[in-house]
Amino acid sequence: MQAFIGLGSNLAAPQQQVLLAQCDLSALPETAFIRHSSLYKSPPMGPQDQPDFINAVSAIDTTLSPDALLNHLQQIEQQHGRVKQRHWGERTLDLDILLYDDWQIEESHLHVPHKGIAERAFVLYPLAEIAPNLDIPGLGPIAELLASCPKSGLERLETK
Ligand code: AMP
Repeated sequence: MQAFIGLGSNLAAPQQQVLLAQCDLSALPETAFIRHSSLYKSPPMGPQDQPDFINAVSAIDTTLSPDALLNHLQQIEQQHGRVKQRHWGERTLDLDILLYDDWQIEESHLHVPHKGIAERAFVLYPLAEIAPNLDIPGLGPIAELLASCPKSGLERLETK
């Protein structure tokens, strides 16, 4: 299955956190790493008295189930010494399953496509960079979603 993972960090050298997390994803079991987006800088959602975020999206090819994948992502977050101080607040590393093939999952612990995917510039733009023809289950072509999603201060970083 092709899955897309959203990465975000705004603490403890965020660029390094995201780059290392991309390496961690490529080392997941039952998983081949397909490609990752550039890094992006985005203003914080929620409380404004926190640093900007570094965000990226990675595409992986995996036979892990969605639950197994979520468990692995949570382990990687813990390995990065994840701290989360408040809702929508600063965090060392946040990993989300954005999409899992064309599956739509509505469980208490797992929503796929990830909630808010259509409104969040820091998700949509990196996702479109690596999958410009994507059709998001239940939401439609990514090009149409992008057209109604302002960049809201999102900046692509020239790191690669
Ligand atoms: P957050 O730290 O804000 O990313 O929230 C983490 C919680 O969101 C976890 O307890 C997950 O069970 C839940 N969750 C629901 N859907 C997803 C998803 N698609 N990817 C990652 N976490 C998810």
